[in-house]
Amino acid sequence: EERSFIAVKPDGVQRGLVGEILRRFETRGFKILALQLVHPSKELLSEHYSDLAGKAFFPSLLAYMQSGPVAAFVIQGKGAVKIGRVMLGATNPQDSAPGTIRADFALDIGKNVCHGSDSVEAAEREIGLWFPQGLKS
Ligand code: ATP
Repeated sequence: EERSFIAVKPDGVQRGLVGEILRRFETRGFKILALQLVHPSKELLSEHYSDLAGKAFFPSLLAYMQSGPVAAFVIQGKGAVKIGRVMLGATNPQDSAPGTIRADFALDIGKNVCHGSDSVEAAEREIGLWFPQGLKS
């Protein structure tokens, strides 16, 4: 069944939002397949955000993502990738629909609380990156 990689970014962890965000995915009906706190290396983040390497905000994005632990998890269920993105809301919280995680908990694109894979291929790639030890099932 479809899987997606979801992460609560350091600002979300620091603000105590992990439980609330996990709860939303659990109560929606997704299975939490894996869950861990990660202090991502520059190498991991450069792989994860390889498509953004040329952007002016890239250095600040890496600094933000290394400002504390990230709560990394894998959800499994029908439509995990698409529904995961919908539940997070638009990348810029200024544009996120009410009721989405970013609209409910963020104001700034530079501190947008969470990440979700944007395709099935990206999800599998990101799960491999963030859970190199593999998933127990
Ligand atoms: P994510 O991959 O985190 O789910 P996304 O796929 O919705 O986000 P991307 O365009 O891939 O959006 O951007 C990745 C991340 O880079 C954003 O979530 C945000 O943290 C950061 N980011 C994107 N655009 C900007 C910007 N203009 N200024 C600062 N940070 C940005």
